[in-house]
Amino acid sequence: MDAPPEHLEYWFAEIAWIGCVAERVTIGVSDGVIASLARDSDPPPGATRLRGLTVPGLANAHSHALHRVLRAGTQTGARDFWAWRRLMYELVDRLDPIRYYELARATYAEMALAGITAVGEFHYLHHDRGGRRYENPNAMGQALLAAAADAGIRITLIDTCYLQATVGGDPLQATQRRFSDGDAEAWAARVDQLSESPTGRIAAAIHSVRAVDRDSMRAVRAWADQRDAPLHVHVSEQPRENHECIAATGMSPTALLAQAGVLGASTTAIHATHLTSADIETLGGSGTTICLCPTTERDLGDGVGPARALASAGSPLSVGSDMHAVIDLFEELRALETDQRLITGRRGLHSPEELLQAATTAGMRSLGWDARGLALGAPADFTTVSLNSPRTAGATPATAIEHLVFTATGADVTDVVVAGRAVVERGHHTAIGDVGEALQSAMFALFEPALSAAVADAAVPVNP
Ligand SMILES: [Zn+2]
Repeated sequence: MDAPPEHLEYWFAEIAWIGCVAERVTIGVSDGVIASLARDSDPPPGATRLRGLTVPGLANAHSHALHRVLRAGTQTGARDFWAWRRLMYELVDRLDPIRYYELARATYAEMALAGITAVGEFHYLHHDRGGRRYENPNAMGQALLAAAADAGIRITLIDTCYLQATVGGDPLQATQRRFSDGDAEAWAARVDQLSESPTGRIAAAIHSVRAVDRDSMRAVRAWADQRDAPLHVHVSEQPRENHECIAATGMSPTALLAQAGVLGASTTAIHATHLTSADIETLGGSGTTICLCPTTERDLGDGVGPARALASAGSPLSVGSDMHAVIDLFEELRALETDQRLITGRRGLHSPEELLQAATTAGMRSLGWDARGLALGAPADFTTVSLNSPRTAGATPATAIEHLVFTATGADVTDVVVAGRAVVERGHHTAIGDVGEALQSAMFALFEPALSAAVADAAVPVNP
């Protein structure tokens, strides 16, 4: 260690992943940044001991906080993605900035307990009922920024442009009017009023090829380029999206996005489930990051995306808990690998290290943050996972990463540090003592009147 300044705060990790597995790692932190890093070291006086495996903070690259309410209660009625979406729209109608803040704060606290230090919130619920503007037109986005700050995690608020109901340009229906700014120029003018902070970034999204026309896609791309901001877009989650896009434009969603100049190294395509070989080459060749959300994709019956082929073609992989059927990025990583085993008959498609990168450094890059992981000068964001829980017991330094990815759950996370601040200590959230109670209270505020009528209707085919 090079004579560290006296004012550093120290953590001492039994085992840490610093690009490789190292033992007895001392992490010195100053002003939220890693100011010293030493392996094979002795713990400095006053250092906080981290027992287990410490890894860079987990990045949840795709979240819709409002969907947290629909984890259960929707599992038997809504028979497909489109019926589930109808339930989701009923929920959307109940949200205002205060309820949205309470729900997001509790959901982000649940993420912190699961080791997540940065969330990408794909935010499109901008306006009041009927599309009326709030007095503060960014009241909803600012509620999410405040929620993440109060839950102690980093956020990239991915402010989403959403202008039309179908790829053919049909007008927005009922609830969808809350999503729209009218046109891309008005979207950009509103987003320009949002402020960033050391733990809050602003990024852009095109909701999907359904929701944004080609000229507006180009305008969103230009906004992101001017600000060096990430750009996210939902791509080919459902076969119907592909069919409608081909019928309206003669192109697949990926081809349409490529033609509009949307793809590239600062772009993240969410899902990318139903792709042609040409789509895979286009996404990989452009360096577009892919965000897979396997627990959501299985919950909604979306399908299994070609993750191995995309990675081989050149696309970095990241993961997101999306609808929050479960908030556990270890489960997302396992599913990323094992879902493909089911459809290919092959094992070991991605190494444990590649999978861990998807949930850490690749996710951070996708969200526009420093993506160096545990390194000098990088943000002091790290997560410690017990290696002697009933699930993870048996790990050695040589097998620690494989144990982490294939045996751990979010419940094995013991400590979480974000920007040098302890957010979770020994499994407890330091600011929100009872996260279950916070979730319960935020959800009960939305459950009255009950969603049951919509659940009963949900099996009826609906228009998109
Ligand atoms: Zn999504």
